[in-house]
Amino acid sequence: MKNLAQDTKNRALQLGFDAVGITGADLMDSSSADLNKFIDENRHGSMKWLADTAIQRSNPAAFFPEAQSVVMVALNYFRKKEKMIYSPELGTISIYARGRDYHKILRKKLKNLLEWIAEREPATRGRVFVDSFPIMEKPLAVRAGLGWIAKNSTLIIKGEGSYFFLGGLLLNLPLPPDEPFSAEYCGSCTRCLKACPANALTAPAQLDARKCISYLTIEHHGDIHPDYQQKLGNYIFGCDICQMVCPWNRRFATESGEVAFKNRFSGQKLNLKRLTRLTREEYEKMFAGTAVRRSGYERFRQTLEIALGNLSLRAKN
Ligand code: SF4
Ligand code: SF4
Repeated sequence: MKNLAQDTKNRALQLGFDAVGITGADLMDSSSADLNKFIDENRHGSMKWLADTAIQRSNPAAFFPEAQSVVMVALNYFRKKEKMIYSPELGTISIYARGRDYHKILRKKLKNLLEWIAEREPATRGRVFVDSFPIMEKPLAVRAGLGWIAKNSTLIIKGEGSYFFLGGLLLNLPLPPDEPFSAEYCGSCTRCLKACPANALTAPAQLDARKCISYLTIEHHGDIHPDYQQKLGNYIFGCDICQMVCPWNRRFATESGEVAFKNRFSGQKLNLKRLTRLTREEYEKMFAGTAVRRSGYERFRQTLEIALGNLSLRAKN
């Protein structure tokens, strides 16, 4: 199994993943405690599904009882900032959502990896996961040795940054695990906590999703509380601020080699006034195949109106 583990990791890198590691599929007690605290403190906001699936999330075998190992992968999605024009009149979409929907890209590569393993080990059975069922990807990535969960609540890969999608494979094979990543390299830095416009990072690695722009523009159901509306600024889908200020990203983030993540929405395409004139059909056409389309037309309209309101407030001041 040792050779198969190493060959699997080599193959994952050949498929274009930027980092890969292996861990066991047993219960993750400490991660489960963190999640329970998050839910008990109601920081998950209206993400009821998170509370409903809390028990299974820390137990990969809940989704695939035969699971013995987890192969965790990371794929860089960063597109250089200079290719994007920032202006208050233009809506801002998080970098990760500006290209093709990552779910399909990661799933395809992971299926390819699973098939490749099965060709070498015919007894292989496995399941691919990319947000497809509730599982705690970041703690698994730490256990697989990929990086640490940073103060901005993202997974940082040392010497590479945090602009990575995570996904994995549950396997029925007992592959030898990698050493967990046991250090953390945020040190005394608190840039992300200070930069968050919504004060959503209430303490290191403690995210209050109810205040987070990313959550409010993507996951939240219902009206956005007036106290938080101004914090959205011109963000209409997601938020990158706590990643953009991070020295690990500023120093090490490199352009993704994945052509599917090429930015589709530059300049005037994101003019807020222009976007409000989009009919549902035009919206569906413009965002077809991207993660933006997942949040739906109604939520898109809601965040657009808030962003336009913020733009006129800005003009008055
Ligand atoms: S994504 Fe934006 S709002 Fe959410 S914690 Fe980071 S900086 Fe704050
Ligand atoms: S900005 Fe500083 S504290 Fe925040 S995640 Fe990056 S290194 Fe850690």
